Amino acid sequence: MKVSVIGGGPAGSIAALNGVREHDVTLYEEHKKQPIQCAGLISKTGLMRLGIKLKKQHIKNTVYGAKIFSPSEESFLIEGKNPKAYVIDRGEFDQFLLDQATDKGATVINKRVKDLNGIDADRIILATGTNYQLQRKIGVNSPKRFLVGAQYEIDFSCDPRFVELHFNIPEFFSWIIPLKDRVRIGCCSNRNPVPYLDRFIKKLMSEGRIKNLRIHKKNFGIIPLHEPKLKTDYGKVVTVGDAAGQVKATTGGGVILGGLAATFTCRPDYERCWKSAIGKELNLHLRVHNIMANLSDQNKNRLFSLISCHKQILEEKGDMDIASKAVYGMFRNPAFTARFIYQLPYYLVDLVF
Ligand SMILES: Cc1cc2nc3c(=O)[nH]c(=O)nc-3n(C[C@H](O)[C@H](O)[C@H](O)COP(=O)(O)OP(=O)(O)OC[C@H]3O[C@@H](n4cnc5c(N)ncnc54)[C@H](O)[C@@H]3O)c2cc1C
Repeated sequence: MKVSVIGGGPAGSIAALNGVREHDVTLYEEHKKQPIQCAGLISKTGLMRLGIKLKKQHIKNTVYGAKIFSPSEESFLIEGKNPKAYVIDRGEFDQFLLDQATDKGATVINKRVKDLNGIDADRIILATGTNYQLQRKIGVNSPKRFLVGAQYEIDFSCDPRFVELHFNIPEFFSWIIPLKDRVRIGCCSNRNPVPYLDRFIKKLMSEGRIKNLRIHKKNFGIIPLHEPKLKTDYGKVVTVGDAAGQVKATTGGGVILGGLAATFTCRPDYERCWKSAIGKELNLHLRVHNIMANLSDQNKNRLFSLISCHKQILEEKGDMDIASKAVYGMFRNPAFTARFIYQLPYYLVDLVF
């Protein structure tokens, strides 16, 4: 079958790479160098699930866990024995995936696709990220709810083995992702994130953690929230990756789960396949996001204090992509569940009223 992939980000390249084993694949990418809006944190297990072997030059740092800061700044460390994630150079990573698709036989055309006229294909895969113009033009549904992300790369010294997650924003969190001598510091919000990020940086300066503020790079982007009922399969045309909202609502990460969905894009039953592989996990990420976004700071403090007492469950079972391992792991622990049920009325006040 003739397959056309529109978009050469991770979802498009992985779709092309998988499709080219059996089909005649052409990929259209409008940029010579794909634009990057990413913190570049990718789980080790996710890469293994996708069968992607990174080269040394893609890895800017290796991460073993996370330090979580509650709204009241109480913190606890989730520390794995083995590497949990890599901080990558997304530009090089995207090019590496695109080159692999080309090496395996996909044809890459450097062109912006404005409509589907003239695309001669039995299957058209829209992997156009958060640029929804083409989807709107041809009447293909796109996500409706978004977070906005802002990120700076700055000089900063911290323990390079751990990312920091600061729950200092009502509907999301701020992150510090260590490179070797710099960090990517950023946050997401459902409104303009820049004032939140600037406030966070000011606070780190007042604490002496940032001595001289030198911003090397700035990066802004939108993150679609997953919509379980969004149609992604129109027969000849399918959507994948950010175009289909296949993003973890807890963290905004879309490379791994969008990539996993992309492996099914040439199947006749694409939507059934990707939903059975990752649909439940995406829904669980969304539920956790919706709960966290609605909890007051006081209740987030309460919940983090409870989780910190059982953090070994996260250390043993936590998986950055498969949320059910940590969530069900927690609720299978009788001590956690008993205290959670005791605290439930507090949480319900935020979630119901
Ligand atoms: C601030 C921020 C931080 C993030 N951090 C992380 C992170 O740490 N880890 C993670 O996993 N995810 C992260 N994400 C999300 C991640 O970047 C996306 O989920 C991921 O890039 C989605 O891949 P994609 O292939 O679907 O789309 P994209 O990577 O956006 O690729 C789409 C491609 O399509 C091309 N294109 C679009 N329209 C056309 C057209 N009409 N014709 C031809 N080409 C076209 C574009 O040029 C682009 O190259 C972050 C996002 C933001 C905003």
